[in-house]
Amino acid sequence: MVAAGLGALMTMVAAAAEGGEENRAKRLAMPRCEKCKGSGQVTCKTCGGAGSYAGVAIGVDAMLTPCPKCGATGKVVCRTCDGTGNA
Ligand SMILES: [Zn+2]
Ligand SMILES: [Zn+2]
Repeated sequence: MVAAGLGALMTMVAAAAEGGEENRAKRLAMPRCEKCKGSGQVTCKTCGGAGSYAGVAIGVDAMLTPCPKCGATGKVVCRTCDGTGNA
């Protein structure tokens, strides 16, 4: 674990020295949460990621109800990693 970590660190440093890829290298070097792919957020199951869902149809137009689960963002904090994105 130590040797592998050092190797990843060196790769990260090299990438940073070349410039521009520091954040990406850090992300790759860190163990990512499998559930959210390291983003820290997962698609809201309540609204399927739309941020809202069709409620009761009133007249011709169906009312789009903002999803209370995700605050209409379509994303919720990943419970697996608590939103950190790291395993
Ligand atoms: Zn939602
Ligand atoms: Zn996660």
